[in-house]
Amino acid sequence: MPPLIELRGVTKTYFVGGGRLDVLKGIDLTIEAGEFVAIMGPSGSGKSTLTQILGLLDRPTSGAYKLLGLDVSALTDDEGAALRSRTIGFVFQMFNLLARTSALDNVGLPMLYTGEPGRAERAAEVLREIGLGDRLDHAPNQLSGGQQQRVAIARALVNKPRLIFADEPTGNLASDQAEEILGRLVAMNDAGITLVMVTHEADIAAHAKRIIKIKDGVIVSDVKNQQHRGARAPAEARAVRPEGLVSVPPPRQLSWEEFTEHVRSALGAIRSNKLRSALSMLGILIGVTAVIAMLAIGKGAQKSVETQLSSLGSNLVMLFPQAPRGGGMGGARGGMGSFSRLSMDDVVAIRRSHPGIARAAGEVQGSVQAVYGDKNTNTSVTGAEPDYAEMRNARAYYGRFFTAAENDQMARVALLGPTVATALFGDSDPVGRSVNVEHIKFKVIGVLPRKGSAGFQDQDDKILIPLKTAMKKVLGRQFLGTISIETTGPEQTDSVIEAVRVLMRKRHRLPDYKEDDFTLRNMAEIQAALTGTSKIFSLLLGIVAAISLIVGGIGIMNIMLVSVSERTREIGLRKAIGATRRAVLIQFLIEAVAMSTCGGLLGIALGMAIAFGMSYFAGWAAIVTPQSVALAFVFSAGTGIVFGFWPARKASLLSPIEALRYE
Ligand code: ADP
Ligand code: MG
Repeated sequence: MPPLIELRGVTKTYFVGGGRLDVLKGIDLTIEAGEFVAIMGPSGSGKSTLTQILGLLDRPTSGAYKLLGLDVSALTDDEGAALRSRTIGFVFQMFNLLARTSALDNVGLPMLYTGEPGRAERAAEVLREIGLGDRLDHAPNQLSGGQQQRVAIARALVNKPRLIFADEPTGNLASDQAEEILGRLVAMNDAGITLVMVTHEADIAAHAKRIIKIKDGVIVSDVKNQQHRGARAPAEARAVRPEGLVSVPPPRQLSWEEFTEHVRSALGAIRSNKLRSALSMLGILIGVTAVIAMLAIGKGAQKSVETQLSSLGSNLVMLFPQAPRGGGMGGARGGMGSFSRLSMDDVVAIRRSHPGIARAAGEVQGSVQAVYGDKNTNTSVTGAEPDYAEMRNARAYYGRFFTAAENDQMARVALLGPTVATALFGDSDPVGRSVNVEHIKFKVIGVLPRKGSAGFQDQDDKILIPLKTAMKKVLGRQFLGTISIETTGPEQTDSVIEAVRVLMRKRHRLPDYKEDDFTLRNMAEIQAALTGTSKIFSLLLGIVAAISLIVGGIGIMNIMLVSVSERTREIGLRKAIGATRRAVLIQFLIEAVAMSTCGGLLGIALGMAIAFGMSYFAGWAAIVTPQSVALAFVFSAGTGIVFGFWPARKASLLSPIEALRYE
């Protein structure tokens, strides 16, 4: 059996600011299993440096180190961490417990990195053995110094190590508490654990079986302590782990337990730093809110335009009396350009102009006030021919449509849009009642089907009356506002448009050099224009999202960098007790992702609230699709990964001793 520890010619040299500092100058040392060694020496003599090399926290500058025959200088950092977690325990002068974390969780921490099951039970068992069974849930700031050091000892014991290093374990304790801790250490050694303890006090070293003194980086004396307390020969020691050579455990995948533990502590960290976390999430929150709300409103507008278009019928061509303006849908609205006049004679002529025309009908529109009893509402009136019902998918929802005879007689009959019906009649049936439109009494004969809103305009806020009644009696118009033309099929649309254009130019006596003074639009064209605008809209939205996610990501990166440097000691401790680089990387990545997804989720909630608020209070259609929620979620989590990676990598590359020495 090779000795537990075998050092040959170990040196350690630090290079500080151009100068070199030889801290260890050739140490030869052999420690057998079961020994209790005290390392003594004046401050700055290299005791801690030696202990850190022995504990695989640091590497010698030169020389050989064999742990039970295994050449540890060949190990990678992560192999060292894995070996450390199962073989070696540490007790530090500064306790190094995780703040705001219960004794139970502190003690269980090393088992997180070995992945052994029964963490909480084992931690509670060790804490009970060390006399802290009634302090399981206490955080370090709720414990005395001696109790904290006992928690640290329990943490060193939890993975059943063969070897424990204690660097000035009583240095920060009052003498009665120091006695208690020493008693624990002696008991541990009696139980078969090899113990290496650094101290500069002779009466503490007196508890050890062997005392090594170093000075200026060399061993100056190495003697058996004849009168140590609790003397027992190493051979009698009870083995804690089955004896045998050490071997490097195989690399571990992230366990579910480790993952949930990190998620839990990440959420805890966010909770305990509420304001700071909220500020860091703000960028992502605003970005996601904007994206969700804008997507919802865009989607709602698109949807209502679509329903409006489909309710118009797909084979519809509209003729407007204004000259077209460059591009877009603008030609349909008033404004610049020359005007022409559309008459019923035009409608009749158009009907005859092309065999591909199924129907053509004229329309006028105007704003009116409608009154019923003490209720009144400002709405729009549309004068239409009976064909409107079929051409525009506007058959009476209940009641009936007006007839050709009623149109010819300029009958005072009206169909109400659902919005108007509700405004004037509430829940009661308007059919058969009379309403006043611009002081003219109309009989309500039906209610129009619900069409919803198109963009920002309520399609149901209207009254439909016969065309002639509207032109002569209500609006006083001589000319039509629109002529709608229905073709027999989509393949006819182009030739119908051409025929109508030729006809209208002829009827308006336009010479060749003049532009059209009217506009012909078919619905397919309008649809294309709409998809064009919605493409531009999505592009802009994408840019907004990208910018806000970058800004949000930088916010998270910034706070993660702060968090890494604030928690340098914690990272050092985690690595000392067996966390690999990967484990630390994953821990900080999880933290960044937790923060960004929290921001994202809040943003989703706020965005949905804004979208629903808008549709509720302003009447804008807003549709939050599951896809947009999923997209926002994925992007905010992705931002956490991308921008959290660098800080997490920085944390993972910290060396355990630099981190532990960090002030
Ligand atoms: P002690 O015996 O008091 O535990 P240490 O082993 O901590 O002494 O330190 C030994 C010497 O090494 C000290 O002079 C210290 O200044 C120096 N030293 C320790 N760590 C570093 C470091 N990371 N860089 C440079 N010098 C260091
Ligand atoms: Mg020291």
